[in-house]
Amino acid sequence: MRVDKCLANMGYGSRKDVKQLLKKGHVKINEKMAKDPKQHVDPDKDAIFVNNEQVIYQVFAYFMMNKPKGVITATEDAKQKTVMDLLNSSDQRPKLFPVGRLDKDTEGLILITNDGSLAHYLLSPKHHVKKTYYAKVDGRVTDRDIEIFNKGIVLDDGYKALPAQLTILKSDNISDIEITIMEGKFHQIKRMFQAVDKRVIDLKRLKMGSLQLDPLLAPGAYRALSSEEITTLT
Ligand code: URA
Repeated sequence: MRVDKCLANMGYGSRKDVKQLLKKGHVKINEKMAKDPKQHVDPDKDAIFVNNEQVIYQVFAYFMMNKPKGVITATEDAKQKTVMDLLNSSDQRPKLFPVGRLDKDTEGLILITNDGSLAHYLLSPKHHVKKTYYAKVDGRVTDRDIEIFNKGIVLDDGYKALPAQLTILKSDNISDIEITIMEGKFHQIKRMFQAVDKRVIDLKRLKMGSLQLDPLLAPGAYRALSSEEITTLT
């Protein structure tokens, strides 16, 4: 592939930015300064350095973010801040996107990648990938709710949700719960509680498939997945 494409894919800016890097002599390929953006490289064989740092070419990028409230899950938006806007410019790559959607007022785990087949696997209704959420609920959540959710609750549009596992952490006028679902309908958790006359007042995603939100990530922070996390997830 062309060296400008390779470096742009690896987050060194647009093709135009990369052209400047090359022109200014910041790029070396196999010990030789490279200036021509059209020069071909084989990322598996050639040693590519930018500012004396070796470029390890990875086709796919995987980041986990602790999405904060107030930010939308979209690749771009004319008016509102998106999860993609929270990525540092050095991590921006063409074709990155958030996998699935969290509501604007929901926080927690969101995977950002350019691996379309992984996204397809995680989101496909056929695969029943589990997602676990923590929620604060206005109302007393009871063992009866556990049973109802476990049997498959009927939502406001008549759709019968797949069985969900509800764990009560605290049952009071305001309850704390954890819930695991196997699908991702629009506002699903909020609508499930609405169906038992309760209101979700705080929602945070903790887990998606094997991927667990890193508790060290503050809202708005993100990190690359470890190779172990990638292997388990893919
Ligand atoms: N269920 C919801 O209601 N909202 C979310 O953001 C995710 C799941």
